[in-house]
Amino acid sequence: MKSRLKLLPLLLILMFIMSGCLMQKEAAPVLQMDEVEARNYYNIEAELNVEEKTLTAVEEVNYYNNDNVEMKELYFHVYPNAFKTKETAPFLFDDFDNAYKRGFESGYGEIISVSKKDRDGEKLLKYSLSGEGDTILKIELDSPLKPFERMSLRIEFALKIPPAGERFGYGENNFNLGNWYPVAAVYDQKDGWNLDKYYAIGDPFYSDAADYRVSIKTPEEYIVAASGQLVEEVKEDNGKVKRIYEGKALRDFAFVANNNFAVIEEEVDGVKVMSYYYKEDRVRGEEALEYGVKSLRLFSQLYGKYPYPVYSVVETEFPSGMEYPALVYISDKYYKPSYSSDPLIITIVHETAHQWFYGIVGNDQIDEAWLDEGFAAFSETIFIERTFGKKTGQDYYTRSIENSVEEALSSQIIDGELVKSLSEFEDWDDYGPTAYDRGAQMLSELRKTLGEDTFLEIVRTYVEKYKFRIATTSDFIKVCEEVSGKDLTEFFKPWINNIY
Ligand SMILES: [Zn+2]
Repeated sequence: MKSRLKLLPLLLILMFIMSGCLMQKEAAPVLQMDEVEARNYYNIEAELNVEEKTLTAVEEVNYYNNDNVEMKELYFHVYPNAFKTKETAPFLFDDFDNAYKRGFESGYGEIISVSKKDRDGEKLLKYSLSGEGDTILKIELDSPLKPFERMSLRIEFALKIPPAGERFGYGENNFNLGNWYPVAAVYDQKDGWNLDKYYAIGDPFYSDAADYRVSIKTPEEYIVAASGQLVEEVKEDNGKVKRIYEGKALRDFAFVANNNFAVIEEEVDGVKVMSYYYKEDRVRGEEALEYGVKSLRLFSQLYGKYPYPVYSVVETEFPSGMEYPALVYISDKYYKPSYSSDPLIITIVHETAHQWFYGIVGNDQIDEAWLDEGFAAFSETIFIERTFGKKTGQDYYTRSIENSVEEALSSQIIDGELVKSLSEFEDWDDYGPTAYDRGAQMLSELRKTLGEDTFLEIVRTYVEKYKFRIATTSDFIKVCEEVSGKDLTEFFKPWINNIY
């Protein structure tokens, strides 16, 4: 997510008109077979009912046990249930009224049935909901799932979508379907099952990359932006259209449906970059495409090639920006003439950087949020440096990152420790300066210490080594030491003393 905005100086806007970049054509990205094997596969058939604000779906999960433990039960997150009551709705108090402009109404996910499919047919399984707001689905297996084996589950569910301008909710013309289907919880060495609640701070999600085939049925006047690539579109006689999307090694799958979207696209290095915007916001919609293209191209060059065939920048009702794999929500506010271009551009750059940090390389966003937010915030500076010149980038860095950290440290809002769980933060006032700014500051100091070339080689090695997997702070430090050939204990200690 993009938490707060630190605006660029206005004179920058004049410079934005420069540079008509040359298109370099390359073959479309293809995932290697060895990257496809050890993942869950989700096949979801969903129908969005725009009048009732509901969605009905059948989700088949080919579940892969990628840990060396026998599993007697499996856990999934049912995030929509957090929206059931005012108490569990995942917004801090001052965001609440903003999210529910039309007043609060309950949203939730109802599990209708869970069954197992195998050679002998289909068999119903026992399940229960638990955790704060009933956001954890526990499925009891009738026989244990052995390490590195697969099984097929079928989950039938229905959603009530709340009137919220949020990750999950509907607005005037739009339906935001983020974190909407039961998604497998992560089992890891450190925590075992990660069954965290839907915190109001940060992006409290942690998931394994998986393969997806998602069919979405809507009334035909609705245009859909989705995480995957559109592979089939079938118009039905009843005025509905079914669109099928596929995606490999996606960390999550989100979509936005809107009956007032215009769509434009441009190809960059074999990737189709799309801008979805409200029809009346054409000027900013074009700018959104331009900066989607520019940031995707730059980060592909710096961090490693973007591996998916599409990338969608989507205007929608949302307070700021939100990253999903191959799709980002951008606040519709930033498309209005009352705003300068700056928040639109910076938010797109930030969310595009998340495609690498959160998306391609996953991390536990509850326990180590700096690993994606720090990189995304740092990437804003690097984008401005490369696009508008070093000095403009450094001015941006000083103003937005360094000053923010200094202020928060001196008024003891933060203590400087980077690795902290979301449960340890009071609110955005300490979370933002820690995960975003302090994280970006550490990366910037690391770049200064090791030099630009070594630093970028570290980032590329880190992305390549952990792509479609999960990385930790310790993994990152290890890559830093391996690539630089230096013992960096003294460098890292002041930032992350508590993990040494
Ligand atoms: Zn972010």
